[in-house]
Amino acid sequence: MGNGRELQILHLYPELLNLYGDSGNILVLRKRLEWRHLGCTVHEVHMGERASLTGIDLVFIGGGSDREQRIVCDELQRQRSELAAFVEDGGVLLAVCGGYQLLGHSYLMGNEEVRGLSLVDLYTDRGSPRLIGNVMVESRIAPQPIVGYENHGGRTHLGARVEPLGRVLFGNGNDGKSGQEGCLYRNVVGTYVHGPLLPKNPGMADWLLSRALERRGDTGELEPLDDTEELAANETMRKRLL
Ligand code: GLN
Repeated sequence: MGNGRELQILHLYPELLNLYGDSGNILVLRKRLEWRHLGCTVHEVHMGERASLTGIDLVFIGGGSDREQRIVCDELQRQRSELAAFVEDGGVLLAVCGGYQLLGHSYLMGNEEVRGLSLVDLYTDRGSPRLIGNVMVESRIAPQPIVGYENHGGRTHLGARVEPLGRVLFGNGNDGKSGQEGCLYRNVVGTYVHGPLLPKNPGMADWLLSRALERRGDTGELEPLDDTEELAANETMRKRLL
């Protein structure tokens, strides 16, 4: 498994769950490790394959249309117990939009229910209109506001003990009403933010990497990088939206 700080990343169903550049999040994680001479291996899991979580440090699930979510949900159910054990053991998991909805108990689309993984106490129902546009969120896991793009019909409702990822500064977030965006549970981050999410939010990328390293018994300390361009992109959006 390479040196002690080389991370193993699992990417679930990239062929189906990859809206608005979500797979770019994997590139960011890979690059931020490489730039620090840490390295990683990305294991893609495709439809029909069984995910092995042995030795995995970080799991990524991207967003998808309602149709794609229906297709992957049974497949995901078969991996539920391994994913639940990973999460309860402090495994790092990032899930975006459709992937975020699948972390919860269910995604209700009128009379139809897409069963979720119940990894986090939340559920989603569908509302109208779709919530589309730029979004900005203040979160304790990132020094800069998290900026990106949202496009979802789902309205996500958090259980009483689930912390939101953050507070909506611009846009809609979980349901357009609560002022909450995303979820934070152990080392699991769920969010509606696409764009992709991590290129403009380097602090968030490093939070995920640090948690994954800590779980291995590492200090989790990361060498600072020159984030001039990433922070300029973040700042441009912050100025535009506020
Ligand atoms: N299909 C889901 C919804 O519309 C998720 C969409 C997405 O991943 N952008 O709510």
